[in-house]
Amino acid sequence: MSADNTTSTGAYWNEALETLPWAEVERWQAPRIEAMLVPLRERSALYAQLHTDVPRDLRLATLTDLSALPFTLKDHVRVAQDRASDVQPLGDNQAVSTANIVQAIASSGTTGAPLYYGLTAPDVEVFTDAIANTWFTAGLRKNDVVAHLVGLPMVAGGLPYADGFRRIGAMLCWLGGFPTERILREMRRLRTTAILATTSFGLYLSEQWDAVGRETGVPSRLTKVLCGGEPGLNQPEIRERIGNGLQISHLREVMGLGDVISAMWGECEALNGMHFNAQKHVAIELIDPATGEQLSWEAGAIGEIVYTAFTREATPLVRYRSRDHALVTGVDRCVCGRTSPRIRCIGRTDDMLIYKGMNVFPTSIRDLIALRFVGSVEPMLRIWKDSKEQVRFDDPIPVEVEATPGFDMTQASGLAQAIESTVRAQLQVRVVITVLDAGSLPKSAYKNSLLAVRASK
Ligand SMILES: [Zn+2]
Repeated sequence: MSADNTTSTGAYWNEALETLPWAEVERWQAPRIEAMLVPLRERSALYAQLHTDVPRDLRLATLTDLSALPFTLKDHVRVAQDRASDVQPLGDNQAVSTANIVQAIASSGTTGAPLYYGLTAPDVEVFTDAIANTWFTAGLRKNDVVAHLVGLPMVAGGLPYADGFRRIGAMLCWLGGFPTERILREMRRLRTTAILATTSFGLYLSEQWDAVGRETGVPSRLTKVLCGGEPGLNQPEIRERIGNGLQISHLREVMGLGDVISAMWGECEALNGMHFNAQKHVAIELIDPATGEQLSWEAGAIGEIVYTAFTREATPLVRYRSRDHALVTGVDRCVCGRTSPRIRCIGRTDDMLIYKGMNVFPTSIRDLIALRFVGSVEPMLRIWKDSKEQVRFDDPIPVEVEATPGFDMTQASGLAQAIESTVRAQLQVRVVITVLDAGSLPKSAYKNSLLAVRASK
């Protein structure tokens, strides 16, 4: 089987792997992971330590056998990075000499200090191929003019995304970094056909796009919107708002993980969750986040995604806990012909809150409010914490929502009460709602956290 490609003109980026039955993809991956394990301990001080008790003759017949290996946690990587030296600027998980590293990228995690990863020239190639594969699955093509809104080249969604856009042959317009008003004007002038944005920026754009058209006098050429960086497109209401506001029907969700590859999941035309697109370079497992037990990929399963990057040279990751919780929306061959599992991201462990012993994701609160109070409030919100570390709430969780334009603010307190009792009834969690004027909540072009920390007194 050939797994080679440079660009694709057909229906798939990598037809051989994307259409191979998933069990066979895993059987293709298993020996590649097995072959990397022993050399890995020679190359990485982190894995020499983590894999001390792993038998050197461990055989991986299937990915189920991966359960013999320990997980790699973000904290492991952080501690390894803290052991940086002049010779090894990336610390104990730097597995090649600095001379062979051509790029450092920062994982923009919403919690803690950033983690840095290195890329060798072959690593860059792997990132670019997997990201291009994801864009291709999500419907970008070489004739697209793509606005890239991430302003920071060093973050995993910066230069690597740009490389992916160019790899599929699209015309890259790297507008991130300009003020928002200028981004919108240039998108019209450059006849942008596609953008990748956060869901909240997509909503913002859908409100502003007509006005920008009147200002520039350039008709919209925008037909494709890819949303990532935060869950949200799983809400039909949000999808509809963006689609109607921009007069487009091509609206797809994408997702990655900066530590592994910044775009690995992309939604196909079936619009039933995101396919995994990095199977040539990365293996995936679904686990129970509480017990660490492997779960099988079956529709309806919910679990945490674990990644093994089996071709990674500079800063390897084996059984890396993503802390992303996903709902499996489909397995087996999709109507598009792809065979990889499909998921929706339902939230991150890092964002989980606990109200009097009840776990709740901010996205669950947001999605419930968006669904039940459509027309009164925007489908975005902000939750205030007293400190970055705060997870537990004994008092009702403070939540700000934003009224839709035209909402009669004299009705705000009645609306707040109605939202509070709905959240309590549906999620068994108490919130205290503040209704803000339309347009009050910040909308970022890259990553939006639903959580904010009050300035310390
Ligand atoms: Zn599909």
